[in-house]
Amino acid sequence: MRVLLVEDDDRVAEALTPALARRGLAVRRLAAGAGVLDLVGEVDVILLDLGLPDVDGIVLCRQIRAASGEVAVIVVSARGEVDDRILGLRAGADDYLVKPYDVDELVARVHAVRRRRADRGPGPTGSAELAGVRVDFDRHEVTVDGVPVSLSRKEFQVFAQIVAARGAVCEREQILAEVWGRAGAAENRSLDVHVATLRTKLGRPSLIETVRGVGYRLSGQPGGLD
Ligand code: CA
Repeated sequence: MRVLLVEDDDRVAEALTPALARRGLAVRRLAAGAGVLDLVGEVDVILLDLGLPDVDGIVLCRQIRAASGEVAVIVVSARGEVDDRILGLRAGADDYLVKPYDVDELVARVHAVRRRRADRGPGPTGSAELAGVRVDFDRHEVTVDGVPVSLSRKEFQVFAQIVAARGAVCEREQILAEVWGRAGAAENRSLDVHVATLRTKLGRPSLIETVRGVGYRLSGQPGGLD
């Protein structure tokens, strides 16, 4: 297994590299984002620190995913906020690990994401379409009949979760946990408001169905998801 460690902190890299090597991983390290895209085709898994000196880690993650559907990406970051985690995953990361972490857990996740991506095969499209509504998960964009619709970050996150469920019910608790990080009364009301706004903005009131007491689902199965 070939691993590319993108980490600007020398102390972290110098501790991690031999620890990973002892566990059978072939590790290369870059101390910045520059050069990462050149190595995408030569490694199996990229461990990506979000806080890099020369480039926004989220932007780089998106570029890596655009360059290759095969390489697995684990975002490794000190940022633990739920929004950052979602941002990383939406940018195409396969997993997310918050520092400090256990090396054995990291190695377990490296093997897991590699397995998942190998099972899935290359070339996930990163977008889905239903009833003229198209969602680009990588670019965080939604268009209706080709016309861009401006959604807030949370509106996009809520809609993306419902779409990614492919017509299955997306439970309220799951959306609340992923998007708000908690499921109190205020968040529950806010979710209702966000869905109502989505229906209006998309101009497709029946696209998102309410499953009373459970959650939401799309009124059909979207195309384009792998
Ligand atoms: Ca850093």
